[in-house]
Amino acid sequence: MKNILIRYGELTLKGNNRNVFINKLIQNIKFQLKEFKEEVTYIKDYNSLMLNVQENVLDLVLSKLQNVFGIYSMSVIEKTSWDFEDITQAVLKIAQNSQAKTFKLEVYRKDKAYPVTSTELKQKLAPIVLKANPHLKVDVHHPELKIEVVIKKDHVDIFDSRIPALKGLPVGVSGKAISLLSGGIDSPVASFLTMKRGMNVDFIHFMTPPHTSAEALGKVFELAKIIAKYNYNHFSLFVCNFTPLLEELNHMPNEGYKINIMRRMFMRIANQLAFKINAKALITGESLGQVASQTIESINTINTVSTLPILRPLLTYDKEEIVLISKKIGTYETSILPFDDACSMFVPKNPVTKPKLREAEFNEKDLLWEELLQHTVDNLIEEFVWMNGEFTKKERG
Ligand code: ATP
Ligand code: MG
Repeated sequence: MKNILIRYGELTLKGNNRNVFINKLIQNIKFQLKEFKEEVTYIKDYNSLMLNVQENVLDLVLSKLQNVFGIYSMSVIEKTSWDFEDITQAVLKIAQNSQAKTFKLEVYRKDKAYPVTSTELKQKLAPIVLKANPHLKVDVHHPELKIEVVIKKDHVDIFDSRIPALKGLPVGVSGKAISLLSGGIDSPVASFLTMKRGMNVDFIHFMTPPHTSAEALGKVFELAKIIAKYNYNHFSLFVCNFTPLLEELNHMPNEGYKINIMRRMFMRIANQLAFKINAKALITGESLGQVASQTIESINTINTVSTLPILRPLLTYDKEEIVLISKKIGTYETSILPFDDACSMFVPKNPVTKPKLREAEFNEKDLLWEELLQHTVDNLIEEFVWMNGEFTKKERG
């Protein structure tokens, strides 16, 4: 058996909510590790979680844990009693398994009932390590190997590395949001970053058949699937047929406002859906100034039709930074596949860069959009539920 110590990180700041957070994290970890039910057991501690893991699945378990928000870092630890000989053997075992030439020993005495101070223990242990490993030298500033000895109540944790994890908060502790998922590079990254702060994310995609293809829609499903491992254990992807509304928008006198008003329609629909499914916010992949439709004026005219907050996690990100994250989370290669979504196909020749609210409202005035919008919300949204690794279409009830 091996022991993995999981550190909670930011959860420690959360006062009374602490237990809720820890329980949610454990639930999410158990879900992530559901295929290892037989091989993993859990021991909850006040500041950390310990997993007893069968050695043959250790690496797999560690890599799955890299998908879970709310884990600050992890260590594979040797667990011993308070007995000095036990501690010494565990420290020597780590030193002997390492190729390092320099090392440093850290001792933390968390339980002051332990009779020896941390400095004393360090002074007793270091010479033993050096004697058993003559090729090792002490380097307190940049050691290749750092062995940490943490004296806790009733036992000692000994380990040589803190593996950084995703950090953030456990998905589910901050409520639910709906992400407007397009098929491009940005919106999957925006969804991922919102999950990072503990929201579980449902998605809505607006398609405009026959102007957009089945491949474009397939791409959206694929993107939601790729980031499913970071999301809550079940979520929904809503697909909205926006064609009737788009055709109505084509009657608009001022072409330049088309994208802006399309966005206002997206938001109105997403708001209605959010109230139905009890989502508390909407998410877009907008980044300030990235394209003509993402100026602060445009953001303002879009916001006025939304009662719910619109989260824009990428607002201050450069494209390069967004691409970096999309590569890290595995969505980039799918996002750049060349199938266009509604937006990229209907960009007018001269979109307004600084739309005015009054002008947007004026342009909407002569369109027959209100009934169409209600019809769209009531009849043209299909729900696909993600559960157990696949999407299933939900029959209308
Ligand atoms: P992305 O890379 O996410 O497509 P983008 O840089 O192409 O973003 P736009 O096309 O201007 O930007 O869209 C801005 C945001 O509006 C998107 O990030 C997404 O949240 C939302 N959006 C655009 N088109 C759609 C669509 N067809 N369905 C759902 N949401 C959309
Ligand atoms: Mg796009």
